[in-house]
Amino acid sequence: MKARDIAELLNEPACDHNTKEKSGCAKSKPGATDGGCAFDGAQIALLPIADVAHIVHGTIACAGSSWDNRGTCSSGPDLYRIGMTTDLSEQDVIMGRGEKRLFHAIKQAIDTYAPPAVFVYNTCVPALIGDDVGAVCKAASARWGVPVVPIDAAGFYGSKNLGNRIAGEAMVEYVIGTRTPDELPPASHRLGITVHDVNLIGEYNIAGEFWHVLPLLDELGLRVLCTLSGDARYREVQTMHAAETNMMVCSKAMINVARRLQERYGTPWFEGSFYGVTDTSRALRDFARFLKDEELQQRTEALIEREEARIHTLLEPWRHRLQGKKVLLYTGGVKSWSVVSALKDLGMKVVATGTKKSTEEDKARIRELMGEDVRMLDEGNPRLLLKTVEDYGADILIAGGRNMYTALKARIPFLDINQEREFGYAGYDGMLELARQLSLTLECPLWVALRSPPPWQGQQAMGLPLTAASSGVHHA
Ligand code: SF4
Repeated sequence: MKARDIAELLNEPACDHNTKEKSGCAKSKPGATDGGCAFDGAQIALLPIADVAHIVHGTIACAGSSWDNRGTCSSGPDLYRIGMTTDLSEQDVIMGRGEKRLFHAIKQAIDTYAPPAVFVYNTCVPALIGDDVGAVCKAASARWGVPVVPIDAAGFYGSKNLGNRIAGEAMVEYVIGTRTPDELPPASHRLGITVHDVNLIGEYNIAGEFWHVLPLLDELGLRVLCTLSGDARYREVQTMHAAETNMMVCSKAMINVARRLQERYGTPWFEGSFYGVTDTSRALRDFARFLKDEELQQRTEALIEREEARIHTLLEPWRHRLQGKKVLLYTGGVKSWSVVSALKDLGMKVVATGTKKSTEEDKARIRELMGEDVRMLDEGNPRLLLKTVEDYGADILIAGGRNMYTALKARIPFLDINQEREFGYAGYDGMLELARQLSLTLECPLWVALRSPPPWQGQQAMGLPLTAASSGVHHA
């Protein structure tokens, strides 16, 4: 990839960060750990396309460090879960065998799995030795008649965020617009409603959470041509140009895709979230509003009324258990406000929220939801998190998996909200799951035991001798 192409991707006019820094996104400070390389970001963004063979062209470590790191689910094929790599060794580098190995790896993937397409991710080593990945992909595609898409995202090009954009750009350049969507089945015409085609960008179907939302969209007559990229298929990505509107879901990672589809095909887009009752209803309304279909707007209102009534009844017992509990939320970007909204729906109070990866727009939304006095944490080191928990008397820390041990070692209840989580929280039914998980975490009897003084301290205070069992000393 040329330096000019990288500079263009970093300059993302649709992203608020652009107004703040020329780099497009905040750079980590020296000494800080970064979130992952560009290759990592590119693979994370596209790996959920379930029927594609994803080949990592590079050393084994690249494939190992990023493989399967999102709990994204597929309703059908699971080829995406097979890690494929050219596994370059020192000898391959010395002898210049990288391109040859890649060509054979593509052949092996096609012969073994007959995928509809192969994605090839470039990494640092082949980029440095000058492998022409684009030319190899083109030759392989011509030879075997299968689309082979180069994703030139070597780690040293930049951050994980840049990698997300490179991945999105590759989809716009090589995949989107190469097939027209299927005809609607005849039965859909008999329903007497207008079916609208839509896309979701940045929805990863973590723990299958999008399956809470899809039935609602189906009911409204919104045909999802593609979710980029949770539970997606290659043939769906090909048709994304035909959508009438795009929703960017809870993530700015692939904002360039939404912008480019608008520029190229005139598709309007909006940003929304499916976390929480309020935001789910808002997203459904936004679809109806952007599609400018009055009849759809009426049906959407009716569906929202029914669903909100149903979920409020189901949430009532949980709300009693969670009402007034204080939360320290430490997560990134859009989730810093979308999850606040979900927690407010449950009657919980967010005392502070992390804003390290949030834009000014995200921060404005946080203030709107939580008031001007809200504590925003731009840094999330363990000491600061624990101090904030203590200062504000937070009952629970909700954050990404890497903060789990910080919380548990300090005997603070913890809930994982990031991509490694095992439960889906999107949509109305996702709220029920969120309420259940919060209650289970907060009410776990372990906290009482962990926070009580150990039994031998009581014995010592009474001047009693310590028993072997109570002192923790065991004799063989
Ligand atoms: S920085 Fe380079 S070598 Fe390291 S994982 Fe990323 S692509 Fe691979």
